[in-house]
Amino acid sequence: MSRIIHVYGNWKMNHLKSDVINFISKLSESVIELDCKQGVCPQSIHLSMIIEAFAKKGILVGSQNCSHEAFGAFTGDNSPQALKDIGVNFTLVGHSERRSIFNEGHEILNLKAKKALECNLDVVFCVGETLEERENNKTFDVLKEQLAEGLKGISKSDLSRVILAYEPVWAIGTGKVATPMQAEETHQFIRKFVSEELEFIAEDVFILYGGSVKPSNAKGLFEMANIDGGLVGGASLKAEDYLELCKIADRTMK
Ligand code: PEP
Repeated sequence: MSRIIHVYGNWKMNHLKSDVINFISKLSESVIELDCKQGVCPQSIHLSMIIEAFAKKGILVGSQNCSHEAFGAFTGDNSPQALKDIGVNFTLVGHSERRSIFNEGHEILNLKAKKALECNLDVVFCVGETLEERENNKTFDVLKEQLAEGLKGISKSDLSRVILAYEPVWAIGTGKVATPMQAEETHQFIRKFVSEELEFIAEDVFILYGGSVKPSNAKGLFEMANIDGGLVGGASLKAEDYLELCKIADRTMK
């Protein structure tokens, strides 16, 4: 069975309003016909602009983070229910920057994933090992723990709304990309693990690769049997590069 390739951009804390307008105007006409699933995750202050421009064009809009509660005294947080209410489709949970800079551990990430799903936001759940962990042959153990703890207690039907993103920390924003074979080996492991241990349906789960994906290396990655697209940081900021990635996804035959 072939799975549609996803190209999801994570803009992180980048872009002024003028950059967002520029991206929208460059992208609007071009992407609609392409056979791939497209999404962007702007800063939360730009979500409404992106929703207005892209929602009717089938480009999904994601939040980079959300609260573990629907409402309440959580100053500075974004309510998953309010995100859904303005038209957000999905949220990232567990991005390595949230784990390392904001100290988000398994427990809070699990609560966030569950609350987002309860509020009808789909979830892109990110996992990945550090360089030290890879060099000490701990990659698979780290991934097992992040997946098992982060997705604990989520029902089989809710898991069907969870996309996984494998993002080796050593490849994020570093220009060091995992080779297609390195990434494929890990994706294969993740697919097996989540279907055997976590009630995902092996052939239905989408597993995106993230870590310095750009137009020059995307083809080799997207062609791999177990890589279902990319979660792309830096290269998704420029409309031209994002569009090129979508075209590569569209042309990729598996
Ligand atoms: C990311 O932020 O999820 C990411 C993969 O970043 P980059 O593509 O810049 O490495």
